[in-house]
Amino acid sequence: FEIVGAPIFNEKHDLKGVVLVFHDITEHKRIEQMRKDFVANVSHELKTPITSIRGFAETLLDGAMENEDLRNEFLTIILKESERLQALVYDLLELSKLEKDEMTLKYEHISLPQFLQDILPIVEQQANNKSIQFITSIDSDTEMEGDPDRLKQVFLNLLNNAINYTPQNGEVHLIVKEEQEVVRVIVTDTGIGIPEDMQKRIFERFFRVDRARSRNTGGTGLGLAIVKHIVEAHHGTIKVISKLNHGSTFEITFPKK
Ligand code: ADP
Repeated sequence: FEIVGAPIFNEKHDLKGVVLVFHDITEHKRIEQMRKDFVANVSHELKTPITSIRGFAETLLDGAMENEDLRNEFLTIILKESERLQALVYDLLELSKLEKDEMTLKYEHISLPQFLQDILPIVEQQANNKSIQFITSIDSDTEMEGDPDRLKQVFLNLLNNAINYTPQNGEVHLIVKEEQEVVRVIVTDTGIGIPEDMQKRIFERFFRVDRARSRNTGGTGLGLAIVKHIVEAHHGTIKVISKLNHGSTFEITFPKK
């Protein structure tokens, strides 16, 4: 609590009492703490690849360049770390854009089966590379109002995650169902799952169950925060159901109109 007080005097200037106002600043404090954490996280996430790029470039200049194997190895690391920086900056800009223009979605009438034709081949390719079976069930004639570029991000993020966090020979399913009031999108995988106590936190920026694993798969830790933003800007809902070592299900509903 924050307390502000003021004395009350009568006409003879005698002290009659005191007014105390109690402000509940828990919410304010929480938001301030989240902002501080976010800035600290961004700095840390940016610093790690930069330190690595700098270190390997210096080592190359100090003589490692002469050795062809080392040169290739170090340049590959430098390239990979630059790609990570690029992905991070891209996702950060996306998040800040979403926060600013939440109300300026470019709504269009979307036929989902047709819309998904552009996205599914990309996902099929990724699934094939990992010998994962990608199975889809999409109600024909499913239609909704939405921003196609944003919705593409939602589908790609969820499906990329499903593939990234599922070991070889697993399965990933995409189900799109038309219901009376809503379009329901379900992405299910047979992957590593998410521990129960962490399920509600995975939509937070930079929250990862396993930082090292997420980094290895090129994850920025911002994907689900972006997905949630987009879904909510469309007045939809998103939830996760998951069992450790069995798999995860992400379920979204979008209002049709
Ligand atoms: P990242 O870039 O790390 O994948 P996301 O915001 O997309 O970031 O996801 C946050 C975290 O949630 C991931 O690091 C991972 O721990 C967990 N996660 C997301 N999707 C899945 C999934 N399908 N299966 C298991 N864990 C997942």
